[in-house]
Amino acid sequence: MAGVMRLRANVAYTDALVQAGLRPYVLPVLPPEQADAMLEGMDGLLLTGGEDVDPALYGATAHSRLGPVHRARDEFECALVLAAQRRRLPTFAICRGLQIANVALGGTLVQDLPSERPSGLNHDPDGARAARSHTVSIDAGSRLAAASGAGSISVNSLHHQAVDRPAAALHVTARSNDGVVEGAETRDDWWMLGIQWHPEELTATPESWDRALFTAFGQAVRERRRGSGAVANP
Ligand code: MN
Repeated sequence: MAGVMRLRANVAYTDALVQAGLRPYVLPVLPPEQADAMLEGMDGLLLTGGEDVDPALYGATAHSRLGPVHRARDEFECALVLAAQRRRLPTFAICRGLQIANVALGGTLVQDLPSERPSGLNHDPDGARAARSHTVSIDAGSRLAAASGAGSISVNSLHHQAVDRPAAALHVTARSNDGVVEGAETRDDWWMLGIQWHPEELTATPESWDRALFTAFGQAVRERRRGSGAVANP
């Protein structure tokens, strides 16, 4: 079956959503013009991890250590972000999800953390995906602080890129000790929360922070569903 194109998503995401009381659907990569229609009837959007983002989308030339990119996915997900923003659809953006949301909304990325932030932490260490490898400081009063229930937490780190210049609509609300952006969110009536680590890999740990993030997303989704009146038995 070599060469067969497949649609894949880590089950950790869908399991975490189910644990939070949600019913997840996995979207295929489609032409960006179809993004808005794909969100019809949805009450939330979760953006998952994955490839580096094509720097052409934010007007930069490719760094020599840029990883593989998936331009069609980038373009579809950018369109999903903008459609979710228009629809005020609760949006939880994880790892690449935060990066693509930032690009969709007009921000830029660090293309290669090891060379562009050489004095910093290793944000992609070897080891288990659920290994908490660095701390993150969260701004008091932020959506992320409320959702996680903490001001400083320890997270896993499996990323090559990060937010550089945040989009105007996004406020950086969490950083690691080396200054790398680890969380950003909106402050208007669009519930959007972006984080650079992988909470879906951490839902079985003794610490409750990551389960709490999915719980908060689940609450936002259910509130939107009730508000839309589209589902009689949520
Ligand atoms: Mn990190």
